[in-house]
Amino acid sequence: LEKRLKEIEYRVPKKYPEVKFLTYKDRKRILITGGAGFVGSHLVDRLMMEGQEVIVVDNFFTGRKRNVEHWIGHENFELIHHDIVNPLYIEVDQIYHLASPASPPHYMYNPVKTIKTNTVGTINMLGLAKRVGARVLIASTSEVYGDPEVHPQTENYWGHVNPIGPRACYDEAKRVSETLAYSYEKQEKIEVRVARIFNTYGPRMHMNDGRVVSNFILQALTGQDITVYGHGQQTRSFQYVSDLVDGLIKLQSSNYSQPVNLGNPDEHTIEEFATIIHKMVGGKSKIIHKDAVEDDPQRRKPDITRANHILGWQPVRRNGVRDPVTSHPGSFHFTVPWGGSPA
Ligand code: NAD
Ligand code: UDP
Ligand code: UDP
Repeated sequence: LEKRLKEIEYRVPKKYPEVKFLTYKDRKRILITGGAGFVGSHLVDRLMMEGQEVIVVDNFFTGRKRNVEHWIGHENFELIHHDIVNPLYIEVDQIYHLASPASPPHYMYNPVKTIKTNTVGTINMLGLAKRVGARVLIASTSEVYGDPEVHPQTENYWGHVNPIGPRACYDEAKRVSETLAYSYEKQEKIEVRVARIFNTYGPRMHMNDGRVVSNFILQALTGQDITVYGHGQQTRSFQYVSDLVDGLIKLQSSNYSQPVNLGNPDEHTIEEFATIIHKMVGGKSKIIHKDAVEDDPQRRKPDITRANHILGWQPVRRNGVRDPVTSHPGSFHFTVPWGGSPA
């Protein structure tokens, strides 16, 4: 019966979520590089729902078609299989440049490629922005602060990055990406926005992403040991993806061109975090300690004063607690006729 139902489902004409209607004049053509990835696909959803024209460019290194499959065929949506290390000639009004592996095991898998994507790839997007007069937002990272000596991290802090360590291919390439943005701004008068994104979690994170949130939840669900790397006293601050998307759109629409931290200032040790997940999921897992990873940043917490003042942004709070799923008017879950929710 299940098989038969699946066959029938495939024949159901595709239904799209109801998008706002914008006239041709009001609609922007927005390019999202890395739009089939975790963060990118949520940004696609929000912009599509606003009625914008969205063009996703992705090479599917870590992204998946199923993250955006609910839009394929919609007249405002286009998906281009392309590696941004190669030039790209299209006409757009705005660019969100998110293409880059983000999880440590992914960006360390092919360090040279990570550097190319964030340097040559960024040059191509800035070259495109220059040619068509588009504004470009660069997805930078809290990793530009490295293993920080300043806590919490403000945008004025220059960072503490080991230039030859295992994380350098990502950290240094993102730092160059920022430098490129400001060099193009100065030299070519391009409008740039730089978001320094802190640890983010939410639906569509890859199961085998390798980052701490998906690792711990998966381990707890499958009854495997929960693996804390090192002593577990290192800290991180996690924001929910819809908060981030909100911040990215606000930043892109603002007239502020300096870097802006986007993250949740609630700081937890990794040990604490393992305990929370262990308790919530239950099951037979034990929390175990593995070797520390090299150059692991020991403390991380964003100072979001700037985002708050300039964009009026902060992670959403509800009843004193940040409630990720229900408190965003723009957050929603799709059910698609050919098989469940992409989340
Ligand atoms: P992700 O791995 O889910 O998404 C990255 C996307 O970029 C994928 O779809 C991948 O296929 C695509 N991509 C990679 N290399 C490409 C190339 N050369 N050409 C075209 N596409 C390419 O990661 P994410 O968590 O969604 O991160 C998105 C962006 O946000 C990244 O730039 C990342 O550095 C930044 N960021 C994310 C976090 C986080 O916690 N998620 C934190 C800081 C910064
Ligand atoms: N580029 C691109 N798409 C465009 C315009 C440029 O991919 O629409 C690439 C181009 O291949 C070049 C890079 O962006 O390598 C930088 O462009 P820029 O104009 O700054 O440099 P130039 O072409 O003068 O070297
Ligand atoms: N971490 C861990 N166990 C895991 C995965 C990660 O203890 O299975 C730790 C990791 O050493 C780091 C923190 O969790 O201190 C966050 O790691 P993640 O890879 O999620 O992101 P990043 O280091 O880039 O912030």
